[in-house]
Amino acid sequence: MTRALYYEDGTRLTFESVVQEVSGSEIALEATAFYPEGGGQNGDAGRLSWAEETATVLDTRKDKATGLIWHRLEGTLPPVGTQVSGEVDAARRWRQMQRHSGEHLLAQAFKRVSPAFSVAAVGMRNPECTLDLEGDPAEIHVQAAETLLRETLGRTDLTLETPTVSEDDLHLYAPRRETKVRGQVRLVIFRDEAGDAFDVSACGGLHVPRASLAAPVVILRTERIRAGLTRVVFMAGEEAGEYLTRVYRDARALAQGFSVPVDRLPERVAALNTERDALKAEAAALREALAATLVGAAPVEIVNGLPVRCVTLDDLALLLPTLNAVPVGEVLLALAPGGRCGMATPREEVNAGVVLGTVLRATGGKGGGKPAIAQGTTPQPDGFFAAVKDALSVLIFQPVPESQPEAHLEYAHAFDSSAAPASGPDKTEIVKAEIVSMLKPTPSNEA
Ligand SMILES: [Zn+2]
Repeated sequence: MTRALYYEDGTRLTFESVVQEVSGSEIALEATAFYPEGGGQNGDAGRLSWAEETATVLDTRKDKATGLIWHRLEGTLPPVGTQVSGEVDAARRWRQMQRHSGEHLLAQAFKRVSPAFSVAAVGMRNPECTLDLEGDPAEIHVQAAETLLRETLGRTDLTLETPTVSEDDLHLYAPRRETKVRGQVRLVIFRDEAGDAFDVSACGGLHVPRASLAAPVVILRTERIRAGLTRVVFMAGEEAGEYLTRVYRDARALAQGFSVPVDRLPERVAALNTERDALKAEAAALREALAATLVGAAPVEIVNGLPVRCVTLDDLALLLPTLNAVPVGEVLLALAPGGRCGMATPREEVNAGVVLGTVLRATGGKGGGKPAIAQGTTPQPDGFFAAVKDALSVLIFQPVPESQPEAHLEYAHAFDSSAAPASGPDKTEIVKAEIVSMLKPTPSNEA
């Protein structure tokens, strides 16, 4: 069993010890200040040195059965019996202690805001720590807990005590959460100068010796996990300070770009949003006007008795406004960059979705849409207008009864390219046959 120096003094980060066992890339020491991973807290890292040698400690873990604490090393391993000097990575350890202390203190602050906010789970392995709370805390409660803790840490010197007590005496300390630990229980208490405990938890982790060393504790956001369970994401200590400083620096740079103080950024952004919405509306109106002009300038061709216009666009954003500008009684075909294409018609007897979809499938593209307007992509933009006009030329205008819409679907499916037999009828014939059968249903007379 390894002697746990970290429990004797959580701030002692250097020590001397002797190698007790070696196994693979791990060594166990007689005593260590390296905290082993556990209780949601990461294991310590650092260095071991002996004679002329130094090895990096990557991680630390405890074997519960033997009580040995194993240090995973990178580099040469010292043999059993070697006297070694250990040095725990201070930055990693202090941040762990700040996170863990912040977790206890914030949980207590929530409990003081409302006893309903009890802790279901915690996470402290990353700078963004989590506290999963029952009782659905709202934004007002989140702010209240954060404020309560900020005022407590700023005005009260809470010091750490870690007594080990018998489970029979636990009720004397009234820990914040029930513990499953039996027998001897290690308590983590933050107590004020008057002797009143701010928080009492049964916990085997490491904490800062004074609660104010975990400040600031800031809540970044909340996430609803499910009904009745809310995740509070927070940062504590140096990590919180670094984060807030970085965010403020970015905000200041942004504010300078807008020539306003940081405090007025929200106002400035709201004004920009309003301006953007107005410009969007103006651009949409201009596109509509341009589309109508382009459509009006395109010549009308008669195909199978249908007046057809073809419009080639140099801007994809004009595709939909152009299709929407289809003149009454006409068929409009539009082609935009990248093979993006569309067809629109207000005529009841021509189904744009079916005609366009069929033509595109036959030419290796894809698309479709509603009877009045359809869009897609063609790999053969040069032949797009001709292919659709070919398809229109074979349309037979006999309304299909509305009561049998399933027949259309089955027919379309039968001629899906993947389902078509390898040696079937000529593809052009298939397209024609399919289109002929795909006329719009007669409009309903119901109001
Ligand atoms: Zn804890």
